[in-house]
Amino acid sequence: MRYISTRHGSQGKPAPLGFEDIMLAGLARDGGLYLPAEWPQFSTADIAALKGLSYTELAFRVMWPFVDGAFDEATFRRLIGEAYASFETPEVAPLKPLGESGLHLLELFHGPTLAFKDVALQLLGRMLDQTLTARGQHATIVGATSGDTGSAAIEAVRDRKTIDIFMLFPKGRVSEVQRRQMTTVSAPNVHNIAVQGTFDDCQDLAKACFNDLAFRDRHALTAVNSINFARVMAQIVYYFWAALKLGAPERPVAFTVPSGNFGNVYAGYAAKQMGLPISHFVVGTNSNDILARFFESGTMTTTEVVPTFSPSMDIQISSNFERLLFDLYDRNGVTLADAMTAFRSTGTLKVGANALAGVRALFDAGRVDEPGTLAAIADCRRRFGETIDPHTAVGYAVAQQHRRDLAVPMVVLATAHPAKFPDAVEKATGVRPSLPARLGDLMDRAERVDGLRNDIGELKAMIDERRAMAAAPATRSKVRT
Ligand SMILES: *Cc1c(COP(=O)(O)O)cnc(C)c1O
Repeated sequence: MRYISTRHGSQGKPAPLGFEDIMLAGLARDGGLYLPAEWPQFSTADIAALKGLSYTELAFRVMWPFVDGAFDEATFRRLIGEAYASFETPEVAPLKPLGESGLHLLELFHGPTLAFKDVALQLLGRMLDQTLTARGQHATIVGATSGDTGSAAIEAVRDRKTIDIFMLFPKGRVSEVQRRQMTTVSAPNVHNIAVQGTFDDCQDLAKACFNDLAFRDRHALTAVNSINFARVMAQIVYYFWAALKLGAPERPVAFTVPSGNFGNVYAGYAAKQMGLPISHFVVGTNSNDILARFFESGTMTTTEVVPTFSPSMDIQISSNFERLLFDLYDRNGVTLADAMTAFRSTGTLKVGANALAGVRALFDAGRVDEPGTLAAIADCRRRFGETIDPHTAVGYAVAQQHRRDLAVPMVVLATAHPAKFPDAVEKATGVRPSLPARLGDLMDRAERVDGLRNDIGELKAMIDERRAMAAAPATRSKVRT
């Protein structure tokens, strides 16, 4: 499998890259996002042959074409097995029908940190470690989080000798559950940093580290946010999983995805490109509705971010959307690079009428405001006895507005456990959801966190110092042996 950047050709002619290269790099050097030069194809017969497989075996079959050459078969199977053994159920992603409504919840939150990000990150952490170990290399992850990504990434790489992770979060602005899921991890390679500033400040600090190329190369910086194609790859699997359970390849299925960075729904789009019979997608947004406005008008315009009950979707620019735009620009990396540069400076991007008609055939979109989110949580509990989190609630609400054909099952991706957002759920239902037993002592565990001013010099000095400290004992033991 060969990978290209969405902006390929905009800065000379780059060498074709393999899976390990794009996994380690995260973002392309030309500023674009990596994707396969061609999608692997699954015929109707190929898909029929996947029926009844376990989640891990299905994961192996669906992802194998993407990693081709990076791992041997036995190694890749082992990494998948270990990643999903960390989930509470061997089903990994249970599919639950909501009565006779034709709606189904695909529960993606049974991993260690209770959000769907575990599905991809538990595997990505292991793949990174495998590759770095084989190459005798070390990498440093620097990331910023407003909540779910930080804990999922930390949990995925804790205790790995090949990786250090520095996670920046805005002090006092993440929920207590989210903060504790990061700060109670005591592994020596995990560095939690509470920044005196906003999430945007944290993101700017992380970006500044990457933009300093000498610093970036010195520490082999890598990114595990949703622009990393390996995460998209791992998310494709559960679209196959759900569709197969609902009758694919003979019957089509629709999916509704609560969206922020467009990573999760893009994985569904990839599954469709690979041959999975998906009738359409519904993209759900909260009041930060840049995606919904795009699908209505063909114009993308940035606005201020407002805080909502579904904070993991409080974003201004959907970074993964560039991968869909790549197809809307007929896979021309040069014109797309120009359009993205113009978008950064003007805040507006418009696609032509034909392109818009094309995406609208496949995507519906809708937004849900704050009262609507609480009403959806209450409605789902009253009608079906299921308690859903505020992100899932956005999907549940828009799914019902966009059933194109009632005979086609509609799968709503349930992206977080309700106990991760207990305040909103309690507000909606009067009942406070409790944490699963394995996380029950989260509120009693000791926390470990460093404070930092919003200052790039201080951050770089901290990373330099920590890495030097970590390297010192290793050097000594090497001398001794
Ligand atoms: C990250 C996240 C989302 C948004 O996913 P994208 O891939 O960024 O669209 C939705 N719900 C929850 C709970 C999340 O953590």
